[in-house]
Amino acid sequence: MTHATPLIATLVSAFVLAYVAGMLAQRLRLPPIVGYLLAGVAIGPFTPGIVADQALAPELSEIGVILLMFGVGLHFSLGDLLAVRAIALPGAAVQIAIATALGMLLAWLTGWPVGAGLVLGLALSTASTVVLLRALEERSLLETQRGRIAIGWLIVEDLAMVLTLVLLPALAGLLGGTTHDGVNLYAALGLTLAKVAAFVAVMLLFGRRAIPWLLERTAGTGSRELFTLAVLGIALGVAYASAVLFGVSFALGAFFAGMVLNESKLSHQAAQDSLPFRDAFAVLFFVSVGMLFDPSILVRAPLPVLGVLAIILFGKSIGAFLIVRAFGRPTEVGLTIATSLAQIGEFAFILAGLGIELGLLPKDGRDLVLAGAILSICANPLLFIALDRWVARREAARVAAAAALEPDLPPGPPLPERDHVILVGFGRVGSLVGQRLHGEGTPLALIEPDADAVERARALGIPALVGNAASVDKLGAVHVADARAIVVAIPQTLEAGQIIRHAREANPAIAVLARAHSDEEVAYLLGCGADAAVMGEREIARSMCESVDGLARWFRRPDAEAAPDAA
Ligand code: AMP
Repeated sequence: MTHATPLIATLVSAFVLAYVAGMLAQRLRLPPIVGYLLAGVAIGPFTPGIVADQALAPELSEIGVILLMFGVGLHFSLGDLLAVRAIALPGAAVQIAIATALGMLLAWLTGWPVGAGLVLGLALSTASTVVLLRALEERSLLETQRGRIAIGWLIVEDLAMVLTLVLLPALAGLLGGTTHDGVNLYAALGLTLAKVAAFVAVMLLFGRRAIPWLLERTAGTGSRELFTLAVLGIALGVAYASAVLFGVSFALGAFFAGMVLNESKLSHQAAQDSLPFRDAFAVLFFVSVGMLFDPSILVRAPLPVLGVLAIILFGKSIGAFLIVRAFGRPTEVGLTIATSLAQIGEFAFILAGLGIELGLLPKDGRDLVLAGAILSICANPLLFIALDRWVARREAARVAAAAALEPDLPPGPPLPERDHVILVGFGRVGSLVGQRLHGEGTPLALIEPDADAVERARALGIPALVGNAASVDKLGAVHVADARAIVVAIPQTLEAGQIIRHAREANPAIAVLARAHSDEEVAYLLGCGADAAVMGEREIARSMCESVDGLARWFRRPDAEAAPDAA
């Protein structure tokens, strides 16, 4: 049966096992990715039991990479990409240099030749698209400045790897590997650069018009099915064609396909339509990585495995952090970029495979790279959790410093104890909501870290407490368990999510209203337990539309038809 239908057998075993292992991981409070990777190990050739098709699984997982990068492109304009080039270009270059040097050092200590060291180091210098994007997406960071820098950085690395894959065969002879006759270094370099340039030119000149046009025509038919097909066809078709015609990676092709669609008003719909496919195939990526892993390397060469892991987790990330800081970006941005890139993935496997083929890398090298990949991918979500905690602690320290000023404040009205509304934040948004509710006679309790804002609220007669609402103690102090509703009027989404979760735990029946700035944030806050989330930009638009209606007279030009412009 398995022989007759390898594709179905691979898809089914991968999806089913990934689901079971993912659920188990979730129960054990581990990231589901760990479950997917272990599912891969279970259906890989190195463990007894079912063995899925080893050629098909990675190929299928490429579809996940393509759809993910397409999705990123949909949220990324050319302007965004150019805006981060000043930091992404030198950042990625320096980071690749650091990782390569460290890899070469490790190879030298292991007694491997220079060529092996170079391949190992380069393999360790690239981050996995899937791992990075999933981590950013889960935290709603894709559309933040930090997220954009990380993606720009990834794209530069991606381009560097495309070049490396082309140049390595030309350099193999020089580095002590198999010589390839007829491969000239400069010709190969020139040809690759020309192809990449041609690809970018074709996408920007032709794709930019043709792709949105195609999608809009399809939308015009009113058929949802055809629209979904068009989205998949464009993402996969452009990725494939760019790989075949221009030699760029699937990921890069898909990214550009998404990016040229970015300005189309249908880009949001396209993103929605490809989402389920994207998620399912991204899971296959992790399964296929797990399949390649031979666990015996952990016993055969524990020290080199630790060395590789240390380079990926610390060597690369410390380098990235220092570069971001050197560019004057805040510590938080540095840590996000460093954490995002502290893992390796698809390119590392391809490079290691090529290294072995060219006689540069010993077979153990690939096992080391795979061990490093699987361990660093498992560690990545944990690093992100540590980062989230650090950010929360820093915020708490800031708020605690503000709260320390409380004793100097004149006392305000007493806090209500039952059936009241809790307001979190008294800034531009919260102060208006607070005054309105207070004016209507609603019993209100405010939590706000800024002592000045609390003083203003108290002067208006609003009972208020200095502090951070993310702290369970503060929520307890405003009697969250007996409150009717909580209005979270702060712009920090992650913190708002935490506040909502705590409030829900203390009072499952409480009504929760939150504030958001993008559709992704709305979805995140609803996922945290909010009953509704108001998206700021949409409300601005609605209010502007109302003003336009109200001012129609002002916009209309009564003389427009009678007296055409002299020009
Ligand atoms: P604005 O964006 O102008 O509406 O301001 C947001 C307000 O929320 C500011 O006054 C912040 O001090 C306040 N704020 C931020 N984080 C918290 C928090 N964790 N708990 C309570 N208030 C907060």
